Amino acid sequence: MNTINQTLKQYYGYTSFRPGQQTIIEAILKGRDAMGIMPTGGGKSICYQIPAIEMEGITLVISPLISLMKDQVDGLVAMGVKAGFLTSQLTLDEQNETLRQAMNNEIDLLYVSPERLENTYFLSRLRQMQVNLIAVDEAHCISQWGHDFRPSYQAIPAVRDHCSTNPPFAAFTATATQKVREDIVAKLELSNPYEFTASFDRPNLTFSIVHPKKKQVKLLDLLKDKESSIIYCNTRKNVERVHSLLKKKGYDVGYYHAGLTSAERTQYQEDFLYDKSPIIVATNAFGMGIDKSNVRRVIHYNLPLDMESYYQEAGRAGRDGAPAEAILFYSSQDIITNNLLIEQGNHPHAKKNLNTIISYCKTGRCLRKTILDYFDENPSFDSCANCSNCNGETELVEVTQSCQKILSCIFRMDQQYGMGLITDVLRGKENARIKSQGFNELSTHGIMKDSTDEEIKDIIALMVSEQFLHVGGDQYPILKFTEKSVDLLHARHQLFMTKHQKETVKAKQPFTEEYEEDLFEQLRALRKEIATEIGKPPFVVFTDKALMSMAS
Ligand code: ADP
Ligand code: MG
Ligand code: ZN
Repeated sequence: MNTINQTLKQYYGYTSFRPGQQTIIEAILKGRDAMGIMPTGGGKSICYQIPAIEMEGITLVISPLISLMKDQVDGLVAMGVKAGFLTSQLTLDEQNETLRQAMNNEIDLLYVSPERLENTYFLSRLRQMQVNLIAVDEAHCISQWGHDFRPSYQAIPAVRDHCSTNPPFAAFTATATQKVREDIVAKLELSNPYEFTASFDRPNLTFSIVHPKKKQVKLLDLLKDKESSIIYCNTRKNVERVHSLLKKKGYDVGYYHAGLTSAERTQYQEDFLYDKSPIIVATNAFGMGIDKSNVRRVIHYNLPLDMESYYQEAGRAGRDGAPAEAILFYSSQDIITNNLLIEQGNHPHAKKNLNTIISYCKTGRCLRKTILDYFDENPSFDSCANCSNCNGETELVEVTQSCQKILSCIFRMDQQYGMGLITDVLRGKENARIKSQGFNELSTHGIMKDSTDEEIKDIIALMVSEQFLHVGGDQYPILKFTEKSVDLLHARHQLFMTKHQKETVKAKQPFTEEYEEDLFEQLRALRKEIATEIGKPPFVVFTDKALMSMAS
């Protein structure tokens, strides 16, 4: 057994390296620059920690996560590795003591934030350290093409000049697009680096897209087993809403977003890490660097903004290698909202990113293959047998005719209204607003009375994402034609939609006693739901017809 294998066994208790770890470590030990691209949970830390243990001198680890540095260092110390960290939360005495240890080679690893590299006092001390490696964690933060750009990362390349030892650089990230990779090499000025890109496939993760009628009901259903889960929402408000729903239902649940104090955030994060509250509801501010091995599912309650962040967030499930789920809730409302947000904001890549996510949601292909293709991995398989598409939970239906009906209705209403009113007119509703405008006289009034609101809204969202409709307006979203609309209106284009309805699968079930009980269970949940929404028990009686329509 060679020494790095012994080190792996002795400190970490592992018997073999994961793909890429050994060759990266060997390259670093030879003094070469290196870059490791591995998915979240792939085992990047060991790639710089083992060289740090092996080599004379000290390894500088640049990590963006001040809140987690302490945990990481505590973990190393508990394993018998000598490590320290510098953050502004420490007292000056504590900082000086750590610096002293670093200069005297009493520790093997020193964790610092990128901001620290702009501190002239620190840089002057650095010259007196025997720096054997500079490890840059979450290296994509240096790239504006990435999703977490951090200006202070720009200070990193100059650090080499402040070391008397000309140490190698090792960069690590879970962001895999070619563009970001090239940018990291250029910005960090890596010279002829050894590069290893691990497969991004996470075979133990089951990917699914669900299209719940009621997100809250579906969520409660998924969480029934009380396993450790992360629920990502798009806004602080949604985080708080979902959190209080789960709280009310008796779950041990915490939450996390940038609006909390740092003490609150640390508290919720630790409660989650140590399973005091194994479920957490959070915005995308949560999770970078979190190493919790037993997260059994990650649920995206709202549509994520881009594929990179989606895959990183989803990847936080199942780090222990045991089966885990990554579930994305798809809703037409999110598509309209995100389109409007993008319309009003000015993020150059936002629209393209959103469309990538939407096509992921709508594809009939294997989801795993779709993801891996996106990351330029182009796997040879067509079906993974472990995603909601491969498991046959999706069907493809043609919706061209419905599109024609919707477009002609929008046209007859002079392209001045939003999804809600257009849907009402198509369904043939007769409310005051519709009558006062005379929309009940239109030939398109009621031409989709056999469809549900949801079905119509889904098709509208599909047209928006495929640019057959445009969302505009200052206050609320108004649907307008694009230059492509007329082609679809005249059926010179066909449009297909994937349906992820577990509900439709269920409907084919015979009406057994067990099934009836299940239905009543759902009805009770629905009543409760309404009760919490209106603040008192609803005066709703479900008729036979309602029952049958739930069943079919
Ligand atoms: P990353 O930073 O790439 O997201 P980590 O370095 O935090 O991943 O490692 C993820 C988990 O995998 C950790 O619990 C780590 O101990 C474990 N791990 C890393 N390398 C190995 C290995 N060779 N064998 C078994 N477990 C490993
Ligand atoms: Mg890491
Ligand atoms: Zn698949």
